[in-house]
Amino acid sequence: MYNINDSVVGNIDFIETRISNFISQRDLSFTIFFNDKRWKKLILRIFTLLMDFINLDQNSKDVAELKNHIYREAVLKFMEVNKNHKMNCDIGMLLEFIKCCRGCCTELIYESFIGKDMDKNVLIKAEEFFDNVEISFCTNWSKIFKNELIKDFKEKNDIIIETLRKSEERYHLLVEQASDGIFIINSLGNFIEVNTIGHMMLKYTHEEIINMNILNMIIPEEFERAQSELNELNLGKHIISEWNLICKDGEVLTVELSAKKLPDTSILVFVRDITQRKIAEKNMRLLEEAINYDRLKTDFFSNISHELRTPVNVIMSALQMCDIFKREDSFEKNKDKLNRYFSIMKQNCYRLIKLVNNLIDITRIDSGYLSLDLNNYNIVNVVEDIILSVSDYIENKGINLIFDTEFEEKTIACDPDKIERIMLNLLSNSIKFTKPGGSIFVNIKEEGKSVIISVKDTGIGIPIEKQKIIFDRFVQVDKSLSRNNEGSGIGLSLVKSLVEMHGGTITLNSIPDMGSQFIIKLPADTLPQAMVSNNNNYINQNNTERINIEFSDIYS
Ligand code: ADP
Repeated sequence: MYNINDSVVGNIDFIETRISNFISQRDLSFTIFFNDKRWKKLILRIFTLLMDFINLDQNSKDVAELKNHIYREAVLKFMEVNKNHKMNCDIGMLLEFIKCCRGCCTELIYESFIGKDMDKNVLIKAEEFFDNVEISFCTNWSKIFKNELIKDFKEKNDIIIETLRKSEERYHLLVEQASDGIFIINSLGNFIEVNTIGHMMLKYTHEEIINMNILNMIIPEEFERAQSELNELNLGKHIISEWNLICKDGEVLTVELSAKKLPDTSILVFVRDITQRKIAEKNMRLLEEAINYDRLKTDFFSNISHELRTPVNVIMSALQMCDIFKREDSFEKNKDKLNRYFSIMKQNCYRLIKLVNNLIDITRIDSGYLSLDLNNYNIVNVVEDIILSVSDYIENKGINLIFDTEFEEKTIACDPDKIERIMLNLLSNSIKFTKPGGSIFVNIKEEGKSVIISVKDTGIGIPIEKQKIIFDRFVQVDKSLSRNNEGSGIGLSLVKSLVEMHGGTITLNSIPDMGSQFIIKLPADTLPQAMVSNNNNYINQNNTERINIEFSDIYS
């Protein structure tokens, strides 16, 4: 074995230092192009050392040309293998290139001994030189690489730590500057972290709120819902909800919250105080209701004035005619006309009475002054009497009236006057909206502990969109001035109130163009014997006047 002299090893180290400088100026995975002058200079320097090492004549004038020749050959050899004009500066590639250089050099040495005695030592020295270059490359490379790696890691680590620090700073600022409360709670609802707005909102200090449980702040009525929403959050669901939280001073805060489970099983909750918004919404609703009510009132007054003015105008016109007859002294001559005017005046007086009665009753119901005069009555008799009293009137209109009952006797506690109001109102509507040839069916039956009275007609029916509001006050399906029937839109609301005063309900089934059915359900209760008045023999006498009043807005 030949020892390489130290100066040569030193030179190789020097080359390595230059390589390391060369590398450190770039990224570790940089690419070397073979036409890069610095690279070429480095390789040529290796060859100079080699020649020095194997005692080649450094002064030969062809030496420079020789070195270039070896370099070119080495590059060509390398390119043959790698088919590339560049190589990545990793140790594998560099060693491969050194191998190419080694091949070229040994070939050259063989060539230089052609025709001479081969000095094997030269060859061995050259091989040894390249071995050392390779070893040196590897050692230095790993050193450089390790250092670079550590340096790089440290730098990157520092950057990461700095980035994290800045990000945490930003995150903290963001959380603290947020206009919403931000809570982090655990899966049981215990507070883990709360921003300033969050604990101030609930009027606790940060120290107080930490370790409290959000479920203990929920108003009792919402506890179950909040508990089940917390369960859903733990299952990973995103919850947007409204909760009412009790503050430290007992005030209740309405909050809108948006919450989601974090990867570490804690829960992030954004909380916005919407108490003021809720109050504003409530005020808005009240305002809308007031506006609607006002609109209803205006509608009502315009309706009522029409309702009042029409009969008054009619009465006035009839009176003017009577006045003319009086001035002409022609009462006797105009007897028939006078009779007609009297009947017109009478009917329009009834209309006015009906309207005033309805208005008075509705006001009395509203103020709680209308009470029932309850007693035990056979409801079949009460209804049947009413039907009998109007049957002629209805038949005269060309409408069939069919009354049917499942039983003859059923005593219940009721006020027969009010039942009459209810029935006459429903019947007058049925007559108004049923053409001659149509039918009205009145039916009584029992259903459980209730008595069912149904008034059904084959009239024009009620549009579906109106059915829900038909029992509201002042509702009229046809509001046009050219409508076929008169009415103030009070009747059904009065009927509903009277039925409800009896503890019953009223419902509607109607199919437009087919007919309507009003179903009254009254409790089949009776008054205890002690409360029963003896004067309970309801005899429906002389209710012609009442019928005239209730039917007064039906055109003859
Ligand atoms: P009105 O005094 O105007 O009749 P109601 O409250 O009794 O007031 O009825 C309200 C509206 O309901 C009526 O204007 C009418 O359009 C409709 N209505 C009530 N009963 C019937 C019915 N049997 N058939 C068709 N429409 C009806």
